[in-house]
Formats: sequence, structure tokens, C-alpha cells
Amino acid sequence: MRDQPSLPAPAANLPAEIRVIAHRGASAYAPENTLASLREAHRRGCRWVEFDVKLSSDGVAVLGHDETLERTTSGRGKLRDKSVRELEELDAGSWFDERFAREPLPSLAKVMELLGELGLAANVEIKPCQGRERETGERVAREIREGWSRNLPLPLLSSFSEEALAAAAETLPEAPRGLVRRHPGAEWLDTVRRLGCSSLHVWHGALTRALVRRAKEAGLLILVFTVNDPVRARRLFDQGVDAVFSDCPDRIQQAFPGTQ
Ligand code: MG
Repeated sequence: MRDQPSLPAPAANLPAEIRVIAHRGASAYAPENTLASLREAHRRGCRWVEFDVKLSSDGVAVLGHDETLERTTSGRGKLRDKSVRELEELDAGSWFDERFAREPLPSLAKVMELLGELGLAANVEIKPCQGRERETGERVAREIREGWSRNLPLPLLSSFSEEALAAAAETLPEAPRGLVRRHPGAEWLDTVRRLGCSSLHVWHGALTRALVRRAKEAGLLILVFTVNDPVRARRLFDQGVDAVFSDCPDRIQQAFPGTQ
């Protein structure tokens, strides 16, 4: 029989009353993965935010979702080829709206400072550029270990990359971890156990009652992305989903008075 480590206490760092997490900040109202979208989530009453983190060419953690810069910044080419200084000079807001023209692409260090000021809890999605999985998991966890606000609970660290999660677990074992899968696949529970995860993050379209049942039996939280329709959110909560990621978290919260 295979030796399986016991799971960490479920919900150790994700209170059950948290039902809505701002996806890349409140990204329906402000450019994703910027200080502006995190501030907007806070302004709209959201208590939890999610954002994506990658590494610059000089190994510094910065916010970003895509491998390339074109979609969400004034830059060209691959994010991994630019230094943090070059990245911080980019305009990461104009593509969304001219009102955000001077919004920078922020480093994780700047984001940690803002979260501490605002008292926002976070899910940090480690999103390594190809080939930098282990390095990104290790580096992001190290920056968090050294710079996370002491006023806040440690973040939930999640990733599609098993390598990145394993490296993060070695560097900052006390932070809870979540495995991200669009479709969970057949062996998801083995992977969750091997990596000591406390949550499974899946695409809402892949959710089934059997999946929810197995996750609950294993003491896991189920978080689903990306849900912007309150009617859909209600159905998911009724099925046993713990929290949803939303671009417009205020719309979901308004539909469920008392949720955070
Ligand atoms: Mg993400």
C-alpha cells in the first residue's frame, strides 16, 4: 500500500464564510492583476482576492497571467525575458480603459504591501512560465515567507503546476495549498494528497455531484472558476461548492446577503 501523508486540517486558512474571491482582482471593473483591480475588489466589499504570479528574467515575482505581454500591457514579447525594472515601467491599464493609463504591472512585493494596508486575504496562483515551474514555486514562496503582512493569514497557494506546488510546499509548508485543474482528471485525489493540498480548484463546467462528494469525504474545499452569474453561483453553492472566483464579486455577494 502506498504511503499517503495525512491531509492538513481543511479550511485551516480559508474560513467557511468566505464564499466569493475576486478573480485577478475585481477584473470586470479594473485591469486584471493590478493594484487597481485589488483596490477595486476591496472598495466593493470583497475580502478575498486571487491573482497570478510569474517570474521576471531576474527572478523577481510579478503579477501576470499570460506568457506574453501583448494582451494586457504596452510591452511586447515574453514576460520571462524582461527584468522587473522593465516590467514595472509598462502600462498595464490602457488596454482595459484609458482611465487606467498609468497603472503599472506590479511586483509581488508591492502587492503584499497593499494587501497588508487593506487587510485583504489572498489566493496566490503560482503561474510559472514554461520551464520555470520549480524555480517559480520556490521563489514566490520565499518572497511570501519574507514579506507577507503579519496582520494577514498566510495566503492560499495554488497552481496548475504540480512541480511549483511541491517547491512551494518545501519552502513554506505552513501555507495552505490548492491544486488547480480545469478538468480534475482521474487521479486528482492522489495528486492532492501527495502535495498536501487542502483545496481543489476546478472549472465550474467540470463539476459533478460525484466530484463534490469525493472532495468532501476527503476533507477538501472545492473552489470553482470563473462564475459571474449569481444564478449559476446559487446552483453551485447548493451542490456543495465552498467558494467561487468571480470577475464581479460584488454581483455574487449582493445575491447572497451575509456572504463575504
Ligand atoms: Mg488565476
